[in-house]
Order: sequence, then structure tokens, then C-alpha cells
Amino acid sequence: MKIICVGRNYPEHIKELGSPRPESPVLFIKPDTASVQKTHPFFRPDFSKLIHHEVEVLVKIDRIGKHIQTKFAYKYYQQIGLGIDFTARDLQQILKKSGLPWEKAKGFDGSAVIGDWFDKSIFDDINKLDFQLKKNGIIVQRGNTAQMIWKIDELIAEISKFFTLKIGDIIFTGTPAGIGSISEEDLLEGYLMGKKAFSVKIK
Ligand code: ZN
Repeated sequence: MKIICVGRNYPEHIKELGSPRPESPVLFIKPDTASVQKTHPFFRPDFSKLIHHEVEVLVKIDRIGKHIQTKFAYKYYQQIGLGIDFTARDLQQILKKSGLPWEKAKGFDGSAVIGDWFDKSIFDDINKLDFQLKKNGIIVQRGNTAQMIWKIDELIAEISKFFTLKIGDIIFTGTPAGIGSISEEDLLEGYLMGKKAFSVKIK
């Protein structure tokens, strides 16, 4: 299983990081060892003093595919979820400045929270999904998949040009605005269309 992540897919998030708007989706991979079960706490790694939360809509691939056309992409997934792309922002800034890959800041153990899965048929339109992240009971991030620069099916088409998608692969579709830091004992809870998808304690 691999985790394919999309960077800079929401205009308001691009603004808050001061990043340039990309010409095509920014993609990176997290190894399977990055995944943490939604019931497990997140242990802050000692190599970073600034871990950011990024709540993201997830897509689970259930069919193998390469060079998938956007119009057929819907056939490759049945389940939608919500997760967190934990990012060691201090380390990422150093790597970015040096023009180096982000893996150490993005793919470390526990950096991918994967919440509950929901059958996509329960949603009227996957391109109009509301989602939220609460930190200690207060909403800190809120987004809607309608705000995505590249929609889920377009992402699948783009990703599958480079990486063969296999059964069980998970796509992190990018974070909306509102990223922020986490501290010991914080509680992060994610909601997709009002349904609770995960609850993660920070250690
Ligand atoms: Zn992200």
C-alpha cells in the first residue's frame, strides 16, 4: 500500500503558506509505515519542534489502474474518508530552502492519520463534501471539496500518469486553509459531512 499526497490543492491554503500556485498537482508519497490507526495516539517526533495538522479528504483505490482517464476515474474507488497529513513544518522549510525532497518532513512514522471510511454512495456529490477538524473541541480547519483546484477524478487521472494505482492505495487530496501547530494532550477530531471520522490524541 502506498499513500499518494497532493500538495497545494486549495487556493486559500496556498495563500497562507505563501506558495506559488502550481501549474499541475504537486504530488508526493508517504510510505505505508506513515499510517497510524485512528484509535492510536500521535507521538510527536523529537526531530521537529513544529508539527502542523493538515486535515484532508481521502480516497481509497479499489482497482488497479494506470493512465486512467478522468471520465473513468470514478470506477476506481468506492470509499471516501478523512485523515491528517502531519507535517514537520520546521524541517520542511529547511528542506524546501535547500531544494531537497520533503520526505523526512512528510513521510515519517505516524504522519498519516487514516480515519473511518464511508461508502461514496451515501453522499450526493463527492465534489461538494464539507469537512472539519476540531482541536480541543474548537473548529480549526474547515473545507469543502468544491474548493479543490483539481477534483478527485482529475487527481486520479494525473497521479496514474506517474504511479500505477493499486488496490488499497490511499490518496490524500490536499488541505484547506487553517493549518496549525499541535501540542501535547491536544485532541484532534475530524468530521466529514457531519460524520465523525477520527479522534487522535497528541502525545
Ligand atoms: Zn497535505
